[in-house]
Amino acid sequence: MIEEKDSFRDTVSHIDKEGHRVFFHPKKPKGKLYSARALLSYFYLFVFFSIPFIKINGSPIFLFNILERKFILFGVHFWPQDFFLFVLGMIIFIVFIALFTVIYGRVFCGWVCPQTVFMEMVFRRIEYAIEGDASHQRALNKQGWTTEKIRKKTLKNAIFFVISFIVANFFLAYMIGIDEVLKIATEPLSQHIGGFVSIIIFSGIFYFVFIWFREQACLVVCPYGRMQGVLLDKHSIVVAYDHVRGEKRHKYSKTPIEGAGDCIDCFECVKVCPTGIDIRNGTQLECTNCTACIDACDTMMVGVQKPKGLVRYASEYTIQTGKRLRWTPRMIGYTIFLFLLIGVETFLLATRSDIDVTVMRAKGTLFTTETDGRISNLYNIHIINKTTSDLDLEMRTNIPGSEVKWVGEEKIAKSNELVEGTFFLLLPKNTLEHQNEKIQIEFWAGDKLIGKTKTTFLGPAKHH
Ligand code: SF4
Ligand code: SF4
Repeated sequence: MIEEKDSFRDTVSHIDKEGHRVFFHPKKPKGKLYSARALLSYFYLFVFFSIPFIKINGSPIFLFNILERKFILFGVHFWPQDFFLFVLGMIIFIVFIALFTVIYGRVFCGWVCPQTVFMEMVFRRIEYAIEGDASHQRALNKQGWTTEKIRKKTLKNAIFFVISFIVANFFLAYMIGIDEVLKIATEPLSQHIGGFVSIIIFSGIFYFVFIWFREQACLVVCPYGRMQGVLLDKHSIVVAYDHVRGEKRHKYSKTPIEGAGDCIDCFECVKVCPTGIDIRNGTQLECTNCTACIDACDTMMVGVQKPKGLVRYASEYTIQTGKRLRWTPRMIGYTIFLFLLIGVETFLLATRSDIDVTVMRAKGTLFTTETDGRISNLYNIHIINKTTSDLDLEMRTNIPGSEVKWVGEEKIAKSNELVEGTFFLLLPKNTLEHQNEKIQIEFWAGDKLIGKTKTTFLGPAKHH
C-alpha cells in the first residue's frame, strides 16, 4: 500500500481540486498573543494615521513622491543628486529585513506588515462583528439573498469601502503630503483631477484586496513571502509545531494511550489559520507567523491539562535537539555587513554638503571689458539648498578684488528649493594669468563656508 502521510505536499491549501480559489473563513482567534498583536496594532494604526501630520520646518517628516522624485526620510530631504544615499538606505533596509528573517523568521509578517495589520486587526474584526464567527459566515454565504444577508453584506461592503477610501487618502498623503490631499478634498475637483483619480484607484485596490483578495496577497504576490525558502534555515525562529512532543497525535482520551503524543488532533490550529494550512506539516511558505495557531493550541492544552507551547515560536533545531538558540556564521556575517552599511550611510549623510551648486558660463558669451578696466564674465547658477532654513548666500572667489553682480535681484537660496539665477563676475585685469583662468567660487552663509565649486573665467589673450 502507498504511504499517504505526506499527501499534503500534493496540494496547496488555497486551491481546490478543480483549480478554484478556496475562500477561507478562519475562526476568530483568541488568546495572549492575539491580544498582544491587537495592542500593537492600535499603536501601529495611530502612528500610520499621525505621521502625515508631523512636520519639520513646514515639510513632512516622511515623503515618497515618486513622480516628482522628492523624498524625505526623518525630515531629511533627498534630491536626485543624492539618490545614491536613498538607494543605499533602501539596500540597508532590505538587508536588515533579510538578516532579521534569518534569525527571527517571519515575525515581521505576523506583527507589523501593513497587509496583516489591516486585514486581521481592522477588516477581519469588522467582518466578525457583522457576520459572526467562521461558521456563521459560511452559513450566511450559503443561504439565499434574505433581507438579513442583504443588510449584512451591504453594511460590510460599505464599511470596507469607506475604510479603504480613508486609507487611500493617507496612502496618498505619504506620497504628496497631507496638504495636497486636503486641497484635493476642499478645492474644486477640476483643479485636482489627477489626485482625485489616484484616490479612487487606490481606494478600489484596497477595497478589492481586503474584501476578496486577502491572504492571496501574502501567498502569490508578496516578494518577501517568496523569499522565505532561501532565508530560513533550521535555526530560524518560526511558528512551529513541536512534533517530538506532539506525535503520534491521537484523539483525546481520559485514559492514557500508549505511544500517543500531546497533539489531540482537534484541528483547532487549522481552523484559525488565515492561510488555511496545517502547521503540523512543518514550516510552510503560506505561514505568515500570525500566531493564531499558538493561541488556539494553548487553549486546547490548558483544556486537557498539558503544558502550553505544543505550537510555539521555536526553531527546527531547538525542537529536535532541545538545545537553545545558537548564533550561526550566517547570522554573524549578515550582522557585520549590516553594521558596515549603516556606517557608510551615516558617514555619507553626515558629510553631505548643505548646498549643491552648479555654475556655468552663460552659453555663447565671451568676456566684456568694463569702463573701469575690469573684465567680466556672465554665469548661470543653480543652487539647491538642502538645509531646513533659507540661506542668504554670499559668493566669493579665490581672486583678490573680485566682485559678483546679480542680474536682477540677488537670489536667496530658499530651504529645500532649487534656485536659478544669472550673475556677472568681475575681476581686475591684472589678476588674470591665463586666457582661460580656472577659478574657485565659495559660498558663505554669514561667516560659515558651506560650499565651493570650480569654473573658468575667460579673459583677453595675453600678448607677450
Ligand atoms: S500556521 Fe499558524 S502562524 Fe502560520 S499562518 Fe496559520 S495560524 Fe498563522
Ligand atoms: S491545536 Fe494543538 S492539539 Fe489541536 S490539532 Fe493543533 S497542534 Fe494538535
